[in-house]
Amino acid sequence: MTRILNYIKGEMVPPEAGAFLPNIEPATGAPYSEVPDSDSEDVERAVAAAESAFPAWSSAPASERSRLLLRVAELIEQNLERLARAESIDTGKPIRLARSLDIPRAASNFRFFATATLHFASESHATDLRAINYTLRRPRGVAGLISPWNLPLYLMSWKIAPALATGNTAVAKPSEITPMTAYLLSELCREAGLPAGVLNIVHGTGAKAGAAITGHPRVGTISFTGGTKTGAEIGRVCAPFFKKVALELGGKNPNIIFADAGLEEVIPVSIRSSFDNQGQICLSGSRIFVERAIQKEFLERFVERAKSLVVGDPLEESTEQGALTSKAQFDKVLSYLQLAQREGGRILCGGEARPAVGGRCARGYFIRPTVITGLPVSSRVNQEEIFGPVVTVTPFDSEDEVVAYANGTPYGLAASLWTQNLSRAHRLAERIQSGTVWINCWMLRDLRVPFGGMKSSGVGREGGLEALRFFTEPRNVCIHLPANPAAGSAS
Ligand code: NDP
Repeated sequence: MTRILNYIKGEMVPPEAGAFLPNIEPATGAPYSEVPDSDSEDVERAVAAAESAFPAWSSAPASERSRLLLRVAELIEQNLERLARAESIDTGKPIRLARSLDIPRAASNFRFFATATLHFASESHATDLRAINYTLRRPRGVAGLISPWNLPLYLMSWKIAPALATGNTAVAKPSEITPMTAYLLSELCREAGLPAGVLNIVHGTGAKAGAAITGHPRVGTISFTGGTKTGAEIGRVCAPFFKKVALELGGKNPNIIFADAGLEEVIPVSIRSSFDNQGQICLSGSRIFVERAIQKEFLERFVERAKSLVVGDPLEESTEQGALTSKAQFDKVLSYLQLAQREGGRILCGGEARPAVGGRCARGYFIRPTVITGLPVSSRVNQEEIFGPVVTVTPFDSEDEVVAYANGTPYGLAASLWTQNLSRAHRLAERIQSGTVWINCWMLRDLRVPFGGMKSSGVGREGGLEALRFFTEPRNVCIHLPANPAAGSAS
């Protein structure tokens, strides 16, 4: 059985205390590897390594940091198949998705930030003729990077790449539920020749290893992606240290479909926004609002397509829906299906666990794509993030009504809006409280745009220049321009 190791000071090492946890393959429900159960001692060693690597890494030419990160991107691409298979086994996602989305995106993250940093410029402000101010942006030191289990390498690399590109060193912690690709990444970083200590990866639980990072007095920057409750706890821990914190948290995203939208395009994209990655994407459109005039037709076509999705062994090429990533998540989603019935919802398809995925997957965490109608927008199922292959469909009659529905949860991460009416699209994009509004699309990502959430979906923005700004400290330098006595100017 593979023993995953920590990556500290350039070496692959077991946790100091020698404790490991079983790592379960969700498609089978059986352990298939072991992950370090690291504690504060391991984090302390990782922070010390990152601190000692910081002076050389932060003062290296940007082009040198860029070269090494581009090498990591290349190695990810060269290992695409191996990484995709590992991600599929570890998370339960279809290998097709890991191969087409997760792993290519991880390579793109490294490539994007390796080059973005070469084009990063800072501001200058001329104060009349009296002074010139320029902004010096310096790396902040050791960054703590904590990521969740739904898109493991994709989200971890989204943090590592900008942190390192701007000259920080880092201590990263993947979710202990899905540690495998972060482990493989550490091997690739060694192969790429990344200097020892620049990146350290400590595996283990959030309660032990994660909390040791966020509470560490010498880790001044925290970038966290995960649940809203955990985000609140991290905010509480970091506040007394005045750490710079970015929190990318949960969502309960509206997918709003007007009658003029054209269902030919809406249906396939809404199937993806509802069920891709078994609905375990923070950006999933889990609340579908359909203009009443087309609700019947929408439901018929949408439910028919949802029923036809192939649920199966994630390693099979034909599989469209794999397993949920953990037993805890599986149980949580099932509990919401029961709640939906108690709240008066009508389950039009799905709603069951363990469909006939036989053979080696007989004990896996599978739930069929589920569509529910008839729930009030204030119901718990419509208010709380389920993070599974479950969507609700609710009719609406007017713009004002659907805006109120869209904004009527504590979250504000992403929204999709389907209409051919351009004025309406602009109007609603302005009114919907959301970090991202997609018009006639979903998950169309450009790495340059600001990414993050409003309200309980988070604080701060990542992506593009926002990430480069987040990982650097702006210092204003003010140069006084003495008056030229010969010119007789007044200051
Ligand atoms: P969690 O909040 O449970 O965990 C996220 C990470 O934080 C894990 O690595 C976890 O470790 C760690 N962690 C847990 N407790 C602490 C703590 N006290 N201190 C420090 N670290 C801690 O989220 P999930 O892993 O369950 O991920 C699902 C959630 O992530 C969903 O709510 C989803 O919406 C959100 N998400 C948000 C995204 C966004 O960009 N806005 C993108 C993707 C997901 P461990 O799991 O090992 O215990």
